[in-house]
Amino acid sequence: MASNLSSKHFHDEDEAFAYVEARVWPNGPVCPHCGGVHRISKMQGKSTRKGLYKCYQCRKPFTIRMGTIFESSKVPLHIWLQAMYLVAGSKKGISSHQLARTLGLTVKTAWFLSHRIREAMREGGLAPFGADGGAVEVDETYIGRKAGRDVPKGGWGHKMTVLGLVDRNTGKSRFFHVDGGKEIQGIVLENLSREARLMTDEHVMYRRIGREFAEHSAVHHYNKEYVRGDVTTNTIEGAFSIFKRGMRGVYQHCAEKHLHRYLAEFEFRYSHREATGSNDEDRFGKMLRGIVGKRLTYKKSLARA
Ligand SMILES: [Zn+2]
Repeated sequence: MASNLSSKHFHDEDEAFAYVEARVWPNGPVCPHCGGVHRISKMQGKSTRKGLYKCYQCRKPFTIRMGTIFESSKVPLHIWLQAMYLVAGSKKGISSHQLARTLGLTVKTAWFLSHRIREAMREGGLAPFGADGGAVEVDETYIGRKAGRDVPKGGWGHKMTVLGLVDRNTGKSRFFHVDGGKEIQGIVLENLSREARLMTDEHVMYRRIGREFAEHSAVHHYNKEYVRGDVTTNTIEGAFSIFKRGMRGVYQHCAEKHLHRYLAEFEFRYSHREATGSNDEDRFGKMLRGIVGKRLTYKKSLARA
């Protein structure tokens, strides 16, 4: 039996380029400068950079790395693919230190790789949950510590708030780093179909927006009620506990400005877990499709890192 990591694209740089190109450009190369697809030639020659193309419409050179999470990285593409495969296959995430040891990178380089890979896992612009009239569980949880000096020491006030949604029919989840109740209400209204059956706890902030949906049912956690018929928030709470276990065990501390990336990683892994019919290969493939167009976001948000 061959190891999953024995495939050529994990070891040979030419194979790695061909592998990524075939997935990002299924219909042939696309110029990232002008969007052109005609009159593009592959540059040959010994001194030519690997995977270099020239667009004769705008006369600029490019490679598959341009405009993706691989842009302006010196790490070979086949090492990138190994890193992505490891992240796709780890149940609770993999720390930068572990990635550095396994791949022979410096911790700093591994840190950059893992944050870019998280960007590739960020899925945006998806259909609303509960569109089929199914149940969507919504809950919030509190973790870590907010940034800043004026943050209160006691109570919940110093923690970061995470809002979670689970579509019970598809098993998919979405996690958000939020500031407060107003934002939570906005996100629920934006991400849930009006046909959805909304399931929450008794928190007052869900009461007003609950009227917008086909149904709103709440379990009364204060009275120790967790399940009433099919009304429960146990699924989203289960997702939160996986997230928290991962954050504690693998990512000892997480700065508030990076929380959204960790959330994207857990959301991706949860939504594509075995129970939804995905395996490591599928996750790796989905990750690869997410590499395009993430570079700018990455640059912008990491500039302050
Ligand atoms: Zn061009």
